[in-house]
Amino acid sequence: MRVVIDQELCGTTWQCVLTLPGIFRQREPDGVAEVHVATVAEAQHAAVRLAASQCPVGAIRVIESDNCGGEPGNVGPLPSPAELGRHATRDEHKPGRHDGTV
Ligand code: SF4
Repeated sequence: MRVVIDQELCGTTWQCVLTLPGIFRQREPDGVAEVHVATVAEAQHAAVRLAASQCPVGAIRVIESDNCGGEPGNVGPLPSPAELGRHATRDEHKPGRHDGTV
């Protein structure tokens, strides 16, 4: 299982940070929540699902599959959907850049 936070939606209530500090933390300096584990341990699956269901703005998204193509210990924190969107927007402004395909 993986978990991501839409940091554009996060209302900085810190509810998830206070209930699961091993999974969530506050981003400095604005206090927006972020995830600091790549993969959630099975023992914490239920607690993470509960945290997601209790987020007042629905900013926490649980991804049940661990199929990320690599060893869980080799991947860093997952980008939030907002971060992914920012990267996509940035790339759109550089149409001459190589897209990575061969
Ligand atoms: S519970 Fe939701 S709104 Fe509150 S800090 Fe966590 S992600 Fe943000």
